[in-house]
Amino acid sequence: MSDIIQLLPDHVANQIAAGEVVQRPASVVKELLENAIDAKATHIKLIIKEAGKTLIQVIDDGMGMSVTDARLSFERHATSKIKTAEDLFQLKTKGFRGEALASIAAIAHVELKTKQEKDEVGTEIKIEGSQVISQEVCVSPKGTSISVKNLFYNIPARRNFLKSNSVELRHIIDEFQRVAMVHATIKFDFYHNGSEIFNLPISNRRQRIVQVFGGKTNEKLVPVNEETDLVSISGFVGKPEYAKRTRGEQFFFVNDRFIKSAYLNHAVSSAFEGLLKEKAHPSYFIYLKVDPQSIDINIHPTKTEIKFDDEHALYAMLRSTIKHSLGQFNVAPVLDFNRDSSMDTPYEYKGKIAQTPTIEVDRSFNPFKEEKKENAGFSSSKPYTDFKKDAAGSWENLYVGLDTPDIAPKPVENNFSTVEFESTEVTGSLFKGNENTELAHNTTYQLRRKYIVTTIKSGMVIINQHRAHQRILYEEVLRNITMASAVSQQLLFPLKLSFSKQEAILLKEVKEQLENTGFVFDDISEEEATISGIPTVTTESEVSMLLEKLVSDIEQEVPDSGFSLTDLLARSISGSLAVRTGVDLEIEQQQHIVNSLFACTEPTITPDNKPTFITLTVDDIDKKF
Ligand code: ADP
Ligand code: MG
Repeated sequence: MSDIIQLLPDHVANQIAAGEVVQRPASVVKELLENAIDAKATHIKLIIKEAGKTLIQVIDDGMGMSVTDARLSFERHATSKIKTAEDLFQLKTKGFRGEALASIAAIAHVELKTKQEKDEVGTEIKIEGSQVISQEVCVSPKGTSISVKNLFYNIPARRNFLKSNSVELRHIIDEFQRVAMVHATIKFDFYHNGSEIFNLPISNRRQRIVQVFGGKTNEKLVPVNEETDLVSISGFVGKPEYAKRTRGEQFFFVNDRFIKSAYLNHAVSSAFEGLLKEKAHPSYFIYLKVDPQSIDINIHPTKTEIKFDDEHALYAMLRSTIKHSLGQFNVAPVLDFNRDSSMDTPYEYKGKIAQTPTIEVDRSFNPFKEEKKENAGFSSSKPYTDFKKDAAGSWENLYVGLDTPDIAPKPVENNFSTVEFESTEVTGSLFKGNENTELAHNTTYQLRRKYIVTTIKSGMVIINQHRAHQRILYEEVLRNITMASAVSQQLLFPLKLSFSKQEAILLKEVKEQLENTGFVFDDISEEEATISGIPTVTTESEVSMLLEKLVSDIEQEVPDSGFSLTDLLARSISGSLAVRTGVDLEIEQQQHIVNSLFACTEPTITPDNKPTFITLTVDDIDKKF
């Protein structure tokens, strides 16, 4: 057989390499920003269009390139940053692989303009798919401007793989923030489709974090500082009372590079031990400086994972430093996480003249009339007077309006109060057409605050209370969003919640859908949302947690999960509000769950495809004896 091995042509090799370096527009943004920083820029401008799909441009005032360097910069393994393999252990720059520009030029239309300070004129180069189209002398200020247009134009499969503009923009903002947070001494401007997203003047680290995450961040930060031979630790942790239910603002930077490390994250979390309520995650912005020789950055092409020589010592030091800082700043243990903001005196109220309360007497009240079956805190709980702080709070609201049909959203096919187990048509195959499966007695029993046990003629059903409730709420929220049928409860005083710019952008994107679920937004500004109405399924004290979780769920939307945004919202909201394991349920509540669950279109599984209940037939039980 003749020889069959060939060397791949450069442009093909470049395209393959590009796959590693450039996954999406955000990767290009990261590489270009890093190059500008390595070029010692003091002002960097990022301009993108259509979430980077049509244009990504980075303009810097750094040192620029000579004519030869400009041309060479697009070659693979062309770098000015290392010369020998040993240099890898002395890295002071962000780039070093010499791959970024070559990769980007292989899969996009690239225009480079660059000029060094000492030169009169600059160089302009156009490259498309690794082919140099033109190289000319040009007029240019000192520094470099690189435009990357039509990313993946020659790899349609990749281009089609890109997510919606809002998702891609989010990734870009993430990368931008990670770079901007480290380099407070560089001025950054960021424009998307002509409008300014960030304008970050030169400042210090603390101010930069505040610029990026919003004005309210400042009061939440506790400084962290420690110098040892092994490492210098600086930065901030969030005060425990501001801890979030979701992992939001958690950043590690090692030698000015953003990195991900589950191990170090654990060190921080353990420093917060005893200070946080269950399932709360602290914010942190930790900057570590270590000897470049003691780490290996080269283990991942995007350089977000690194290896430390002495991980254990680092862990211990980080943990004790943060513990110390939290102690020094007098952070008292366990603060009331669920404090209901509706208990606060609202600003609008201050200085108002108090009105004399009036007394109303119900003259038709007859104490001897037989009381309607009523459960305290059940039907009478009005959301804004409900100051209960446990998870059951959400639960009770499910009942709000059950006896006031004009308030509660009740699509005909799902009138919970009238749904009868036996008579429901939509009870799924389990109960359909089989006399044996009809509910024998309407008795329910709660097992270990986790399961609801009830009997059917053929045996018994064991229902997972949290999962079942999640299914019920999910269908309700979904129905409300799609039919825009939800009714909202007006808040006495508008609720103001603060968000980062990034979160506010997200919130605006889903505003309409949220309004269909019952939210009423008076305003969503850059850093704050004003809410005057909330869905009946939630309470005022839960709203902040709910929206926080929602925003983070959208942020972390699993690529290619194939779920629609509506579905995501419904899953997130139902997940947040569903009654938890560990909550005692009254008999009525248990029965309500049972009835509502089997009135669902898809009662057998949760929105995430987990079983909601199991059945044990008498046969099954017999076999056990
Ligand atoms: P690396 O950053 O790993 O060296 P790149 O492909 O990103 O590889 O860049 C190749 C080279 O081009 C860099 O080493 C640098 O010398 C030069 N270069 C790239 N971007 C700029 C810039 N904005 N200003 C000055 N020089 C640059
Ligand atoms: Mg680079």
